[in-house]
Amino acid sequence: MKRQNHLMLTLSCLFFVQCEDGMRPNTLDEIHSITMEPGQIYTLIFTQILDTLPSQTTYAGREELLKTPLHDLVAKGIIIKADDLKAQFTENWQRFFMLMDIYQIPHSAGLICQTIRNLSPANRQNLSDRLEAQCELWLHGWDHFLSDSRAEFQGASFQEQYQHLRWSLDLVYRELSYTMHTFGAPGNRIDDHTAAALLAIPELIVWLWGKPVPGLFTIPITAVAESSTGVARDLDSFQARFQRYGSEDVITLQIHPNLWSDDDFTRFTAALDTLILLDAYAFMTPYQYYTRVMDRDFITVTKVDSLTYQLDFTRTNFPHTIFFADRFTLWSENLP
Ligand SMILES: [Zn+2]
Repeated sequence: MKRQNHLMLTLSCLFFVQCEDGMRPNTLDEIHSITMEPGQIYTLIFTQILDTLPSQTTYAGREELLKTPLHDLVAKGIIIKADDLKAQFTENWQRFFMLMDIYQIPHSAGLICQTIRNLSPANRQNLSDRLEAQCELWLHGWDHFLSDSRAEFQGASFQEQYQHLRWSLDLVYRELSYTMHTFGAPGNRIDDHTAAALLAIPELIVWLWGKPVPGLFTIPITAVAESSTGVARDLDSFQARFQRYGSEDVITLQIHPNLWSDDDFTRFTAALDTLILLDAYAFMTPYQYYTRVMDRDFITVTKVDSLTYQLDFTRTNFPHTIFFADRFTLWSENLP
Protein backbone atom coordinates (compact mmCIF):
# COMPACT_ATOMS: atom_id res chain seq x y z
CA MET A 1 0.00 0.00 0.00
CA LYS A 2 1.24 3.46 -0.79
CA ARG A 3 2.33 5.04 2.43
CA GLN A 4 2.40 8.71 1.59
CA ASN A 5 -1.31 8.70 1.81
CA HIS A 6 -2.39 12.30 2.14
CA LEU A 7 -3.80 12.52 -1.35
CA MET A 8 -6.03 9.56 -0.79
CA LEU A 9 -7.82 11.09 2.14
CA THR A 10 -11.44 11.47 1.36
CA LEU A 11 -13.36 14.54 2.32
CA SER A 12 -16.05 12.36 3.75
CA CYS A 13 -13.64 10.84 6.27
CA LEU A 14 -15.62 10.30 9.43
CA PHE A 15 -14.80 8.96 12.82
CA PHE A 16 -16.09 8.89 16.33
CA VAL A 17 -14.42 10.04 19.47
CA GLN A 18 -15.66 8.28 22.54
CA CYS A 19 -14.85 9.52 26.00
CA GLU A 20 -13.48 7.12 28.54
CA ASP A 21 -16.76 6.91 30.40
CA GLY A 22 -18.43 5.78 27.19
CA MET A 23 -21.31 8.18 27.73
CA ARG A 24 -20.91 10.81 25.03
CA PRO A 25 -19.71 9.69 21.62
CA ASN A 26 -19.04 12.71 19.38
CA THR A 27 -19.34 12.50 15.64
CA LEU A 28 -16.74 14.62 13.85
CA ASP A 29 -17.08 15.28 10.14
CA GLU A 30 -14.30 15.95 7.65
CA ILE A 31 -11.37 15.33 9.93
CA HIS A 32 -8.30 14.12 8.03
CA SER A 33 -5.81 13.91 10.82
CA ILE A 34 -5.55 13.40 14.52
CA THR A 35 -3.04 14.76 16.96
CA MET A 36 -1.53 12.27 19.35
CA GLU A 37 -0.77 14.01 22.62
CA PRO A 38 2.11 13.00 24.89
CA GLY A 39 1.14 10.80 27.79
CA GLN A 40 -1.82 9.23 25.96
CA ILE A 41 -2.73 5.80 24.68
CA TYR A 42 -5.00 5.59 21.64
CA THR A 43 -6.89 2.65 20.24
CA LEU A 44 -7.77 2.83 16.55
CA ILE A 45 -10.15 0.41 14.92
CA PHE A 46 -9.88 0.59 11.14
CA THR A 47 -12.61 -0.45 8.73
CA GLN A 48 -10.31 -2.56 6.57
CA ILE A 49 -7.18 -4.64 7.04
CA LEU A 50 -4.04 -2.56 6.54
CA ASP A 51 -1.20 -5.07 6.80
CA THR A 52 -0.31 -8.71 7.36
CA LEU A 53 1.55 -8.17 10.62
CA PRO A 54 0.86 -10.75 13.34
CA SER A 55 -1.71 -9.68 15.94
CA GLN A 56 -1.14 -9.68 19.68
CA THR A 57 2.31 -8.23 19.01
CA THR A 58 3.96 -4.98 20.05
CA TYR A 59 6.10 -3.09 17.55
CA ALA A 60 8.79 -0.63 18.59
CA GLY A 61 11.76 1.03 17.00
CA ARG A 62 11.94 2.63 13.62
CA GLU A 63 12.25 -0.45 11.44
CA GLU A 64 9.26 -2.14 13.03
CA LEU A 65 7.08 0.97 13.16
CA LEU A 66 7.63 1.52 9.44
CA LYS A 67 5.44 -1.54 8.82
CA THR A 68 2.57 -0.24 10.97
CA PRO A 69 -0.07 2.47 10.36
CA LEU A 70 2.31 4.90 12.08
CA HIS A 71 4.89 4.61 9.29
CA ASP A 72 4.83 8.32 8.39
CA LEU A 73 5.92 9.20 11.92
CA VAL A 74 9.19 7.31 11.55
CA ALA A 75 9.75 7.76 7.81
CA LYS A 76 12.67 9.76 6.48
CA GLY A 77 11.84 13.44 6.07
CA ILE A 78 11.36 15.65 3.07
CA ILE A 79 11.30 19.29 4.14
CA ILE A 80 10.07 21.96 1.77
CA LYS A 81 11.95 25.14 2.70
CA ALA A 82 10.52 28.07 0.77
CA ASP A 83 12.55 31.22 1.33
CA ASP A 84 11.79 34.94 1.47
CA LEU A 85 8.10 35.17 2.36
CA LYS A 86 6.82 38.68 3.10
CA ALA A 87 3.55 39.80 4.67
CA GLN A 88 2.01 40.66 1.31
CA PHE A 89 1.61 37.42 -0.64
CA THR A 90 2.55 37.86 -4.28
CA GLU A 91 0.83 35.97 -7.07
CA ASN A 92 3.71 33.50 -7.09
CA TRP A 93 3.38 32.85 -3.39
CA GLN A 94 -0.35 32.34 -3.73
CA ARG A 95 0.31 29.89 -6.54
CA PHE A 96 2.89 28.02 -4.49
CA PHE A 97 0.62 27.77 -1.46
CA MET A 98 -2.23 26.57 -3.67
CA LEU A 99 0.09 23.83 -4.90
CA MET A 100 0.83 22.81 -1.31
CA ASP A 101 -2.89 22.74 -0.57
CA ILE A 102 -3.61 20.55 -3.59
CA TYR A 103 -0.97 18.05 -2.48
CA GLN A 104 -1.98 18.48 1.18
CA ILE A 105 1.60 18.28 2.35
CA PRO A 106 3.32 19.90 5.31
CA HIS A 107 5.68 22.65 4.15
CA SER A 108 7.57 25.60 5.54
CA ALA A 109 8.19 29.21 4.60
CA GLY A 110 10.95 31.52 5.78
CA LEU A 111 9.45 34.84 6.83
CA ILE A 112 11.30 38.14 6.57
CA CYS A 113 9.84 39.28 9.83
CA GLN A 114 9.91 43.08 9.76
CA THR A 115 7.51 42.97 6.80
CA ILE A 116 4.67 42.09 9.15
CA ARG A 117 4.88 45.40 11.00
CA ASN A 118 1.56 47.26 10.68
CA LEU A 119 -0.03 44.11 9.32
CA SER A 120 -3.29 44.67 7.45
CA PRO A 121 -6.26 42.48 8.46
CA ALA A 122 -6.19 40.79 5.04
CA ASN A 123 -2.50 39.93 5.28
CA ARG A 124 -2.93 38.74 8.85
CA GLN A 125 -5.72 36.45 7.70
CA ASN A 126 -3.55 35.08 4.88
CA LEU A 127 -0.71 34.27 7.26
CA SER A 128 -3.07 32.72 9.80
CA ASP A 129 -4.66 30.61 7.10
CA ARG A 130 -1.19 29.33 6.19
CA LEU A 131 -0.51 28.27 9.74
CA GLU A 132 -3.79 26.35 9.66
CA ALA A 133 -2.75 24.67 6.41
CA GLN A 134 0.23 22.65 7.66
CA CYS A 135 2.72 25.46 7.02
CA GLU A 136 5.49 26.19 9.50
CA LEU A 137 6.67 29.79 9.42
CA TRP A 138 10.33 30.10 10.36
CA LEU A 139 12.57 33.02 11.09
CA HIS A 140 14.41 34.09 7.94
CA GLY A 141 15.79 37.29 9.39
CA TRP A 142 14.39 40.59 10.51
CA ASP A 143 15.43 42.57 7.42
CA HIS A 144 17.24 39.97 5.27
CA PHE A 145 20.20 42.29 4.74
CA LEU A 146 22.84 40.84 2.40
CA SER A 147 25.86 42.48 0.81
CA ASP A 148 29.14 41.19 -0.56
CA SER A 149 31.03 41.80 2.65
CA ARG A 150 28.31 41.47 5.30
CA ALA A 151 24.99 39.86 6.00
CA GLU A 152 22.35 40.18 8.70
CA PHE A 153 23.94 37.27 10.58
CA GLN A 154 27.49 37.55 9.28
CA GLY A 155 29.72 40.32 10.52
CA ALA A 156 27.14 41.81 12.90
CA SER A 157 27.77 41.82 16.65
CA PHE A 158 26.25 39.29 19.03
CA GLN A 159 23.96 42.00 20.36
CA GLU A 160 22.74 42.96 16.88
CA GLN A 161 22.10 39.37 15.91
CA TYR A 162 20.33 38.64 19.19
CA GLN A 163 18.21 41.78 18.78
CA HIS A 164 17.09 40.84 15.28
CA LEU A 165 16.05 37.38 16.45
CA ARG A 166 14.23 38.74 19.50
CA TRP A 167 12.40 41.46 17.55
CA SER A 168 11.32 38.88 14.98
CA LEU A 169 9.98 36.36 17.49
CA ASP A 170 8.17 38.99 19.52
CA LEU A 171 6.56 40.65 16.50
CA VAL A 172 5.37 37.37 15.01
CA TYR A 173 3.96 36.31 18.35
CA ARG A 174 2.22 39.66 18.84
CA GLU A 175 0.72 39.74 15.34
CA LEU A 176 -0.07 36.05 14.78
CA SER A 177 -0.07 34.49 18.28
CA TYR A 178 2.54 32.09 16.88
CA THR A 179 5.90 31.05 18.27
CA MET A 180 8.56 30.32 15.70
CA HIS A 181 10.93 27.48 16.59
CA THR A 182 13.13 27.36 13.49
CA PHE A 183 15.77 29.72 12.10
CA GLY A 184 17.47 29.82 8.72
CA ALA A 185 19.84 32.71 7.95
CA PRO A 186 19.38 34.92 4.89
CA GLY A 187 21.72 33.60 2.23
CA ASN A 188 22.58 30.86 4.76
CA ARG A 189 25.37 33.22 5.84
CA ILE A 190 26.36 33.04 9.50
CA ASP A 191 29.35 33.62 11.77
CA ASP A 192 30.51 32.65 15.25
CA HIS A 193 28.03 35.00 16.97
CA THR A 194 25.01 33.35 15.35
CA ALA A 195 25.04 30.19 17.45
CA ALA A 196 25.46 32.19 20.66
CA ALA A 197 22.58 34.49 19.71
CA LEU A 198 20.35 31.50 18.92
CA LEU A 199 21.26 29.79 22.20
CA ALA A 200 20.19 32.96 24.03
CA ILE A 201 16.66 32.65 22.59
CA PRO A 202 15.03 29.59 24.16
CA GLU A 203 12.15 29.43 21.66
CA LEU A 204 14.53 28.79 18.76
CA ILE A 205 15.59 25.17 18.64
CA VAL A 206 15.91 24.13 14.99
CA TRP A 207 18.62 25.61 12.79
CA LEU A 208 18.43 25.12 9.05
CA TRP A 209 21.94 24.65 7.69
CA GLY A 210 23.43 25.54 11.03
CA LYS A 211 26.56 24.55 12.84
CA PRO A 212 26.42 21.46 15.03
CA VAL A 213 26.10 23.06 18.47
CA PRO A 214 24.89 21.41 21.69
CA GLY A 215 21.45 22.79 22.53
CA LEU A 216 20.44 23.37 18.89
CA PHE A 217 19.07 20.90 16.37
CA THR A 218 20.64 21.47 12.97
CA ILE A 219 19.16 20.29 9.69
CA PRO A 220 21.32 20.17 6.55
CA ILE A 221 20.13 21.73 3.31
CA THR A 222 20.69 19.83 0.11
CA ALA A 223 20.85 21.54 -3.28
CA VAL A 224 18.24 19.21 -4.73
CA ALA A 225 15.30 21.29 -5.89
CA GLU A 226 16.95 24.30 -7.53
CA SER A 227 20.05 24.41 -9.74
CA SER A 228 20.59 28.05 -8.78
CA THR A 229 18.53 30.47 -6.72
CA GLY A 230 15.04 30.61 -8.20
CA VAL A 231 15.60 28.00 -10.93
CA ALA A 232 13.85 24.65 -10.38
CA ARG A 233 15.67 21.58 -11.67
CA ASP A 234 14.15 19.45 -14.39
CA LEU A 235 12.97 16.02 -13.33
CA ASP A 236 16.05 14.04 -14.40
CA SER A 237 18.39 16.39 -12.62
CA PHE A 238 16.12 16.47 -9.57
CA GLN A 239 15.96 12.71 -9.29
CA ALA A 240 19.70 12.31 -9.73
CA ARG A 241 20.35 14.81 -6.94
CA PHE A 242 17.70 13.30 -4.70
CA GLN A 243 19.21 9.83 -5.05
CA ARG A 244 22.64 11.19 -4.27
CA TYR A 245 21.38 12.00 -0.78
CA GLY A 246 19.58 8.69 -0.36
CA SER A 247 21.49 7.77 2.80
CA GLU A 248 20.46 10.98 4.59
CA ASP A 249 17.69 10.86 7.19
CA VAL A 250 16.18 14.09 5.87
CA ILE A 251 16.30 15.90 2.55
CA THR A 252 15.62 19.63 2.59
CA LEU A 253 14.33 21.17 -0.63
CA GLN A 254 15.36 24.82 -0.59
CA ILE A 255 13.27 26.82 -3.06
CA HIS A 256 12.48 30.44 -3.95
CA PRO A 257 8.97 30.27 -5.44
CA ASN A 258 8.65 34.04 -5.69
CA LEU A 259 11.33 33.98 -8.41
CA TRP A 260 9.80 31.11 -10.37
CA SER A 261 8.48 31.19 -13.91
CA ASP A 262 5.68 28.97 -15.18
CA ASP A 263 8.35 26.45 -16.22
CA ASP A 264 9.81 26.36 -12.72
CA PHE A 265 6.39 25.62 -11.26
CA THR A 266 5.88 22.87 -13.82
CA ARG A 267 9.25 21.29 -13.06
CA PHE A 268 8.74 21.42 -9.30
CA THR A 269 5.27 19.91 -9.65
CA ALA A 270 6.76 17.03 -11.65
CA ALA A 271 9.24 16.45 -8.82
CA LEU A 272 6.44 16.47 -6.23
CA ASP A 273 4.55 13.88 -8.26
CA THR A 274 7.48 11.48 -7.83
CA LEU A 275 8.09 12.29 -4.16
CA ILE A 276 4.56 11.58 -2.97
CA LEU A 277 4.94 8.01 -4.24
CA LEU A 278 7.95 7.22 -2.06
CA ASP A 279 7.10 4.83 0.75
CA ALA A 280 10.23 5.54 2.76
CA TYR A 281 9.70 9.31 3.00
CA ALA A 282 7.11 11.66 4.43
CA PHE A 283 6.80 15.41 4.04
CA MET A 284 7.31 17.28 7.28
CA THR A 285 8.17 20.74 8.48
CA PRO A 286 11.52 21.48 10.15
CA TYR A 287 10.09 21.57 13.66
CA GLN A 288 7.96 18.51 12.97
CA TYR A 289 11.06 16.63 11.89
CA TYR A 290 12.77 17.63 15.14
CA THR A 291 9.87 16.42 17.30
CA ARG A 292 9.74 13.12 15.41
CA VAL A 293 13.45 12.48 15.82
CA MET A 294 13.13 13.26 19.53
CA ASP A 295 10.16 10.92 20.08
CA ARG A 296 10.34 8.16 17.50
CA ASP A 297 12.24 5.71 19.66
CA PHE A 298 9.68 6.02 22.45
CA ILE A 299 6.47 5.14 20.60
CA THR A 300 5.06 1.62 20.52
CA VAL A 301 2.25 0.12 18.47
CA THR A 302 0.43 -3.02 19.55
CA LYS A 303 -1.59 -4.78 16.89
CA VAL A 304 -4.44 -6.16 18.95
CA ASP A 305 -6.39 -7.89 16.18
CA SER A 306 -6.63 -7.59 12.41
CA LEU A 307 -8.29 -4.15 12.59
CA THR A 308 -7.31 -2.80 16.00
CA TYR A 309 -4.11 -1.01 16.98
CA GLN A 310 -3.12 0.45 20.29
CA LEU A 311 -0.75 3.42 19.99
CA ASP A 312 1.26 4.21 23.10
CA PHE A 313 2.47 7.81 23.39
CA THR A 314 3.01 7.73 27.14
CA ARG A 315 6.78 8.17 26.83
CA THR A 316 6.78 10.98 24.26
CA ASN A 317 7.34 14.69 24.79
CA PHE A 318 5.61 16.33 21.82
CA PRO A 319 2.22 16.19 20.10
CA HIS A 320 2.25 14.42 16.73
CA THR A 321 -0.32 14.95 14.01
CA ILE A 322 -0.86 11.85 11.90
CA PHE A 323 -2.77 11.30 8.67
CA PHE A 324 -4.53 8.08 7.84
CA ALA A 325 -5.98 7.15 4.48
CA ASP A 326 -8.47 4.76 5.93
CA ARG A 327 -11.54 5.28 8.01
CA PHE A 328 -11.27 4.33 11.62
CA THR A 329 -12.91 4.65 14.97
CA LEU A 330 -10.78 6.27 17.62
CA TRP A 331 -10.95 5.30 21.26
CA SER A 332 -8.78 7.69 23.19
CA GLU A 333 -7.73 6.47 26.59
CA ASN A 334 -6.42 8.51 29.51
CA LEU A 335 -8.48 11.51 28.50
CA PRO A 336 -8.49 14.23 31.14
ZN1 LIG B 1 16.46 34.55 1.72
